[in-house]
Amino acid sequence: MNEQQIALGAKYLQQGRLVAFPTETVYGLGANAFDAAAVNRIFLAKGRPADNPLIVHIADYATLPQVASHVPAQAERLMQAFWPGPLSIVLPKSERIPTVVTAGLDTVAVRWPNHPVAAALIRQAGLPVAAPSANRSGRPSPTLAEHVAEDLGDKVDLILDAGMAAIGLESTVIDVSSGEPTLLRPGAVTVEDLEQILGPIKVANAHPSPDQPVRSPGLKYTHYAPRAPLYLYLGEPKAVVQAQLQSLSELKSEGKNVGILTYDEYRDQFPAANVFSLGCYTQPAEAAQRLYQLLRRFDEQEVDIILAHGYPSTAGLRLALQNRLVRAAGFRLLWV
Ligand code: AMP
Ligand code: MG
Repeated sequence: MNEQQIALGAKYLQQGRLVAFPTETVYGLGANAFDAAAVNRIFLAKGRPADNPLIVHIADYATLPQVASHVPAQAERLMQAFWPGPLSIVLPKSERIPTVVTAGLDTVAVRWPNHPVAAALIRQAGLPVAAPSANRSGRPSPTLAEHVAEDLGDKVDLILDAGMAAIGLESTVIDVSSGEPTLLRPGAVTVEDLEQILGPIKVANAHPSPDQPVRSPGLKYTHYAPRAPLYLYLGEPKAVVQAQLQSLSELKSEGKNVGILTYDEYRDQFPAANVFSLGCYTQPAEAAQRLYQLLRRFDEQEVDIILAHGYPSTAGLRLALQNRLVRAAGFRLLWV
C-alpha cells in the first residue's frame, strides 16, 4: 500500500468508480455517497438486494451535516465515545444522500472508521463514501484483500490492500433516530459499552436462547454463510465437544466430508482433517478476527457439512460472534 494508490482510489471515487478499501471491521466496497449511479454499481457488483441499505463512511465532523439532517444529543455522545471506531449510527438522512443509498428509508447509517487507509482515502476524495462489506451478497464478509478479489474480481476498479482486518466482524449498528436507542446489529462496540454512555438500550433480535426459540423475522437475508450447511452447537464446552464428536462419527459413517469449527483447547480431540480453530476459547477477539476467513476455508475444502461450536452465554463481544454464527447456521441450532 502506498500513497499513490490511495490518491488513485480517491480520484476513482470522485469519478464514480468503485474502490474496495480496508477498515478495522471488514473490507468495504466504496462509492461516492452523493452519486446515485455510482452507488447503484455497488448493488450490481455485490448482487445485493436493493432494499438493504448501505452505511455512509466519513472521516471528519465537517462532512456530517451533508449526510445527516440532524444529530440527536445521544448520537453526539456516542460519537465522542466511539468514533473513529466500529460503530454505525442511524440518523435522519440529509437531502443530498440519494435514496438508493438508504434503500428508500429517511434515515442513514453513518460511521467514521478507525483505519488510516480508510481515513486517508475518504479525506482525499473529499466525499462521504457509501460502503457495504466488499463480498458477493450472501458470502462471508472479507477480512483480507484476497477475499475481495475472490468475490468481486474485475467488478471493482481498485482494491487497497492493508492486510488482515483487525476486528473481523461488521460494525455495531445502533438507531438513535427515534428517542429509544435500539441496537440493530451487535459488533465490537458492545451492548455494555453502549449502555455506559446511554443507560439501558433495546436489543433487537440478536440473542437466541433455549427458552426464547429462534425467530427468523427481520432476517430476510442469509448473511455470512459458507456454502455447506453449518450446524451450531450451543452449550457448555464439554457437552458441545461430545455432541460434535458423536455427530462426526455418524456423518463419517455415511461417507460425509465433515468440517469442524472449534477452539485451541478442544482441537486435539478431533481427528486432523478439516478441523479449524477460532483460537483460544476465552479470547473472543481472536475468534472474531478469524471467523469469516475460516468459513471461506471450509468452502475451499469442499466440506459437505460444518459442525460449529457456539457459546452458552453472550456477554461482550460474544453477542456479536454468536449473532454471526447463528446467521451462518441459517438457524440450524442444537442446544446441548
Ligand atoms: P453491510 O454494509 O453489508 O454491513 O450492511 C449494512 C447494514 O447496516 C444493513 O444491512 C442494515 O442492517 C444496516 N443499516 C444501514 N442503513 C440503515 C438504516 N438507515 N436503518 C437501519 N439499518 C441500517
Ligand atoms: Mg455485508
